[in-house]
Amino acid sequence: MNGWRCDFGLPVHTANVRPRVDPMSGDSESVHHVSGETVLVRRNPRRRRNAAIFRENGRVVVELPPGVSRAEEQGWAERMVARLRAHEKRQRAGRSDETLFARARTLRETYLLPLAPHAPAPVSVAWSTAQGRRWGSCTSATRTIRLSSRLKECPQWVIDYVLLHELAHLVESGHTPAFWALLARYPRTGEAKGYLKGYSAGLAARSGEPMAREVDENGH
Ligand SMILES: [Zn+2]
Repeated sequence: MNGWRCDFGLPVHTANVRPRVDPMSGDSESVHHVSGETVLVRRNPRRRRNAAIFRENGRVVVELPPGVSRAEEQGWAERMVARLRAHEKRQRAGRSDETLFARARTLRETYLLPLAPHAPAPVSVAWSTAQGRRWGSCTSATRTIRLSSRLKECPQWVIDYVLLHELAHLVESGHTPAFWALLARYPRTGEAKGYLKGYSAGLAARSGEPMAREVDENGH
């Protein structure tokens, strides 16, 4: 563990990550390519036995215990990406319009009603493949909320943020201070915005189409 430079949790900002060797310990981060995914492989001394995989800033990150050799990295990357994809497939299958609507009701009661007791309830909440560059949209006249199907691969707390964002638009149409005040009780707004920014960069790298800067804007 001596000389380990712990980068766990640090966001990766550069567009191209090159393999980097820590001269103190020989620990390294390296980039692998697995069926269309760019996979950053790291050692994490806090992982004694288990490998982990997660998405971070548009990249897939695999963390391995320090004892795993460079020669084993590609094999680990392939196994872990297969696991991630199976997990995301199960997750997508469980994400129906019905569960989304139920989630919206729970979020409205938990986070919105304590601040805005008269916040309108949505009439319809559903997934949509026609959201273009937006993560979500809200039509206040019909109290209809749509979420981009691209969010189905995201963690629940990110989907929750977009849902709550659109629910708050049933109260406040613009991105005003009053609007952001409605999200004050949701603890992961900043984190979710960061996640979406990274996820957007990852999608853009694959498709060349960046998502909107704000959850539900068409521009930029
Ligand atoms: Zn908005």
